Amino acid sequence: MIELPEAYTLAKQIGETLVGKTIINAVADSQHHVFAWYTDDPKLYGQKLNGKKITDANPGTGYSCGGNTEILCEDMLLVISTPIRYHAPSTKLPKSHQLLLEFEDGSHMSCTVQMWGAMLLFPINGEVILPDGFTKKCPSPYDDAFDESYFDSLRQSVKPTLSVKAFLATEQRIPGFGNGVLHDVLFNARIHPKRKLNTLSDAEFAALYHSVKDTLKAMRDGGGRDTEKDLFGNAGGYHTILSSKTLAYQCPVCGDGLKREAYLGGNIYFCPTCQPLVK
Ligand SMILES: [Zn+2]
Repeated sequence: MIELPEAYTLAKQIGETLVGKTIINAVADSQHHVFAWYTDDPKLYGQKLNGKKITDANPGTGYSCGGNTEILCEDMLLVISTPIRYHAPSTKLPKSHQLLLEFEDGSHMSCTVQMWGAMLLFPINGEVILPDGFTKKCPSPYDDAFDESYFDSLRQSVKPTLSVKAFLATEQRIPGFGNGVLHDVLFNARIHPKRKLNTLSDAEFAALYHSVKDTLKAMRDGGGRDTEKDLFGNAGGYHTILSSKTLAYQCPVCGDGLKREAYLGGNIYFCPTCQPLVK
């Protein structure tokens, strides 16, 4: 999946680059991927999209929830959770792709599934019914409605012994918030990812809330994280504090060595001094 900040970057770049282009050939599922999800038969995507113009794009703020890119093609809506790439005319196309749109000027847009990914397609001239997990049902951290009391209501809805990582980055409790954005959010709040929610002081929970809001904003405003690629295959402009890119360096705050551990289906990165496990 793509995470919240990168969805904003992709939607903005699609708006600037693809809006106005007419699709002449849409091909879905040309390399079958077990965890690629389509709406109905992917072979019909061409029939449904050919001749349509790209009219708008947004970061999962129109019909679906965070972590998706919505691309409007006149009266059809694509909801995409995979990375998306633009290919200028006469440039090389990826060998493997699960959705390829060819435009009238010879340029292309491709979607390639990493672990899993959705490329859903709906007509929007009626009610758009998205599958579970894609429907917009809660505010995004970028919305004003995602305030301290909303964040506290999320905490009230889970077991108090849940770890902070499980709280923030699992079950799509905050759609589009994944294991990628987690590390800097927790570093900025000075909280270890394995801390249980019921061990956090009020001040720490408040710091966590502000870090969710401020860190995600910095990632979005920087054009996505430097560990992820944008529409043109370029790394984002937000410099990650904790990631595979920075693991070999010292903590920018205390100078100690950074750590990586496997935890809850993915690596966690942290500074053991700034983010102690026991408080
Ligand atoms: Zn440190």
